[in-house]
Amino acid sequence: MVCEWWGRGPVIVDFHTHIFPPEVIARREAFAARDPWFAELYGDPRAKMADADQLVAAMDADGVDVAVTFAFGWADQSIAEDCNSYVIEALRRYPGRLVGLAVVQPLAGARAIAEVERCARAGMRGVGELMPHGQGYRLSDTVLLAPLAEVAQALNLFVLTHASEPVGHLYHGKGNVGAADLYAFLLAFPALRVVAAHWGGGFPFYELMPEVQTAAANLWYDSAASLYLYRPNIFATVAAICGANKLLWGSDYPLISHRRMLAHACDGGLSDAALAQALGGNAQAFLGLA
Ligand SMILES: [Zn+2]
Repeated sequence: MVCEWWGRGPVIVDFHTHIFPPEVIARREAFAARDPWFAELYGDPRAKMADADQLVAAMDADGVDVAVTFAFGWADQSIAEDCNSYVIEALRRYPGRLVGLAVVQPLAGARAIAEVERCARAGMRGVGELMPHGQGYRLSDTVLLAPLAEVAQALNLFVLTHASEPVGHLYHGKGNVGAADLYAFLLAFPALRVVAAHWGGGFPFYELMPEVQTAAANLWYDSAASLYLYRPNIFATVAAICGANKLLWGSDYPLISHRRMLAHACDGGLSDAALAQALGGNAQAFLGLA
């Protein structure tokens, strides 16, 4: 089944997309030599990468109105800054179409905090995608992450973090950010708004525990790469446990096309109202979009 109404129905917001400056795409081997985690994800020349123009063209083709976008969790803060500058430029070129997040390396300390402030001044709305495994820290290292969480809250930014399944198949980029790491992070920063990517690596199940549900009051889930991880029924299952208001549809574009991820969501067993929330209504409310 595909959604008959997409393109003429509710606003569609893709909450998880990656873009890179054209020079990084053109010289990916050089960047792979500088960052082992980037090499794992993008070292293969067949691994898909996209710039801002390609993202917006794909959104237009598949009826996606708005995309939350960011580059990649570089280990090197200076590369992260260059990519953030590219995303900022893209926000200016495509007003109303893109929502930018700042990538920083928390191990860079004060420099990372200053970069979050710069990106917020330029109109970015959050920090992420955190890639703790690739960047060399744990999400549960709340001493390291406290300054980042504090500046994010002070600037009314949210944090989007990678998360992954402790079981199941291995894939490039899986990493080891599990439920225990995420829980420690939530407990340490209860007022911070957090989006856990890839369905939080299975964290929704633990929201059946009352104390975990309480800790997850400011936690949302994106569906990035879901097509490669779960049966479509994951949408209805997470909605049943956590509430349909916690679902933020995301693709992980350009890894997966919008069209294929829309079909996956539409097969997910949600009511029409819950599907409309997941595909865009929740993101609009979360981001305060008109
Ligand atoms: Zn991720």
